[in-house]
Amino acid sequence: MEAKKESMLQRLQEILGEDHVFPEEPMCRHITFRVGGPAEWFVHVDTIEQLKQVIVLCKEQQEPYYVIGNGSDLLVSDTGVRGVIIRLTGEFETVTPKESVNDGICNICAGAGVMLAALSLRAGKKGFTGLEFANGIPGTVGGAVLMNAGAYGGEIKDTIVAADVLTKDGEIRCLKREELDLSYRHSAMMESGDIILKAYFTLSVRPKLQIFAVMESYRKARQEKQPLEYPSAGSTFKRPQGHFAGKLIQDAGLSGFRVGGAMVSTKHAGFVINAEHATAADIYQLIQHIRQTVKEKFQVELEPEVRFLGAFDE
Ligand SMILES: Cc1cc2nc3c(=O)[nH]c(=O)nc-3n(C[C@H](O)[C@H](O)[C@H](O)COP(=O)(O)OP(=O)(O)OC[C@H]3O[C@@H](n4cnc5c(N)ncnc54)[C@H](O)[C@@H]3O)c2cc1C
Repeated sequence: MEAKKESMLQRLQEILGEDHVFPEEPMCRHITFRVGGPAEWFVHVDTIEQLKQVIVLCKEQQEPYYVIGNGSDLLVSDTGVRGVIIRLTGEFETVTPKESVNDGICNICAGAGVMLAALSLRAGKKGFTGLEFANGIPGTVGGAVLMNAGAYGGEIKDTIVAADVLTKDGEIRCLKREELDLSYRHSAMMESGDIILKAYFTLSVRPKLQIFAVMESYRKARQEKQPLEYPSAGSTFKRPQGHFAGKLIQDAGLSGFRVGGAMVSTKHAGFVINAEHATAADIYQLIQHIRQTVKEKFQVELEPEVRFLGAFDE
């Protein structure tokens, strides 16, 4: 190992512990498309203090860093990613009950590394309603706040009251709902690059049986309509104004269309799936082909919801 890498490894291990640093970690293990080359460094960060130290180190060493959640809205290139990929673990995976935040009352508060499904279940078991929609979304709280994740008429925006973030200047701030600027698959953190640490939600009370009945109906609907048996990142594209991406793709005759091992799902054309040993390049090229075809046929620009990490050939 070259000297710079050796020193980076040592410094990361000093901050995080040997068992939390994974050099050349295959990213296919960490994204739901199950493709992607190695991250130069993949690390588990358990505390805010460690997170700050890792970022200071990255800046000092001029290494890029990137926080991921469950990788369920990401495509990582086959050649991998330079720098440090951070997964928030430890204290970021905890859920705490009632807290007072800003001027509002929050009755459930979750670290950025908590899985949405677990949070939604936990809220439901306490008789809190408002996160039923999140039960089938395979992401973390951090990823869901960044994306303002939503389904079946619900979205993060509806119940979040605030979020703690770590700014690019290393400052911890508690942003109120308005400051999060949440709209359809958009948040202020997409522009600011702030790291989401924790989110505060205000949920109302509802009989548990009703909450779980709603979750069950969403689960059934997903199972029926979505190709959950294949690796994917859910809906590949954002919903274009006045249209549905899946319908446009279907009407363009692309259902079942393949590039290598990547395929437009025949169950739901809005999903690009890893049908058979796809590479990230297969998926990327298929996405570009879909965009081009839909543009030519219907003059509609499809904007990917999936985010890209690493280098992709045009
Ligand atoms: C089968 C399937 C079904 C899906 N259904 C839905 C659905 O119904 N509705 C929906 O909205 N989405 C859906 N998705 C997409 C995805 O699950 C959501 O967008 C989810 O919120 C992403 O969370 P994540 O933790 O996986 O984020 P990742 O994919 O890991 O990251 C997504 C983005 O968030 C950023 N990020 C992650 N954590 C943080 C943090 N702590 N601070 C700052 N930035 C962060 C990453 O840098 C990246 O830019 C689905 C995906 C799959 C595979």
